[in-house]
Amino acid sequence: MKPASVEYHKATSIADAVDVLSSTEDEDAKVLAGGQSLVPMLSMRLARPSVLVDINGLTDLDYIRRDGDWLSIGALTRSRAVEKSAAVRDAAPLLSEAMGFVGHATIRNRGTIGGSVAHADPAAEAPAVLCALDAELVITGPAGARTVGANDFFHGFLTTAVGPDEMLTEIRVPVLPAGTGCAVEELARRHGDFAMVAVFAAVTVGDDGRCTDARLALAGTNPTPVRAREAEAVLVGSGLTAETIAQAAQAAAGVTNSANDIHAPAEYRRDMASVLTRRALRRAASDANVVV
Ligand SMILES: Cc1cc2nc3c(=O)[nH]c(=O)nc-3n(C[C@H](O)[C@H](O)[C@H](O)COP(=O)(O)OP(=O)(O)OC[C@H]3O[C@@H](n4cnc5c(N)ncnc54)[C@H](O)[C@@H]3O)c2cc1C
Repeated sequence: MKPASVEYHKATSIADAVDVLSSTEDEDAKVLAGGQSLVPMLSMRLARPSVLVDINGLTDLDYIRRDGDWLSIGALTRSRAVEKSAAVRDAAPLLSEAMGFVGHATIRNRGTIGGSVAHADPAAEAPAVLCALDAELVITGPAGARTVGANDFFHGFLTTAVGPDEMLTEIRVPVLPAGTGCAVEELARRHGDFAMVAVFAAVTVGDDGRCTDARLALAGTNPTPVRAREAEAVLVGSGLTAETIAQAAQAAAGVTNSANDIHAPAEYRRDMASVLTRRALRRAASDANVVV
């Protein structure tokens, strides 16, 4: 199929993009970033906006900056740039590792981290890893900029806190503390496919060997990315042992809420959430120099 006809607007600034988004009747203008999700949806007529607002010329949205304890990433930064950035690897290695699972290199060369987050596919890596990292998302609209925590940003399947007259402009990631180990474990039919289940884990270990902080997020298992809070609570204050990790893995499986679909029954995803959580936690512990 071919896309339906659509008016094309090349944005000259963030203000110009917001102006077009907010002045389009029926609120059906769409931002065009890397086009890796939107263009196939247009071609299949799953999306039929009347106006496309192309933000690819907004180079002021393409940056990665370390500012003290925060990493700021412009929404138009290509996924491959985030994956390969030394600043990201240093401040948030979980994010670097996660971005390597997004499709194939050619898709990451064009697709943007902002597009991936705004699209909010429940099986996508960027939304879930940003939940694990307690990232903040900066949304800009006619009333100016506002910030929403990643864990409040994803409202449902392909639905976020971004209003029809707004756009995502920046992703802010707190730097992980020293003594933190990270790991991503993902199950997909083929490398580069969307995850059937993915687990993003970060554990911080204190001088006495106990876990002082744990973050666990899952993708592919719920209509939105989800934090496994009960599993995190099992770990915090305890040693990272085979027993506590097994207990946390069981608790993580309990948060899954998927329907049976053409890829897998819900029960299989739940079991895989437990298996992958165990693997991710063992690897994260080892990354934090704990022998399990
Ligand atoms: C073959 C294939 C395999 C893929 N595999 C994976 C995978 O394994 N994991 C994964 O996570 N992704 C995967 N993707 C999707 C890919 O990561 C997309 O690049 C990403 O989902 C969208 O980013 P984009 O910049 O291309 O956004 P676009 O396609 O341009 O836009 C996507 C949506 O987000 C909106 N949008 C974009 N930017 C903004 C913004 N700044 N503010 C507000 N709204 C915005 C658009 O209006 C649109 O609704 C795959 C894609 C393909 C084609």
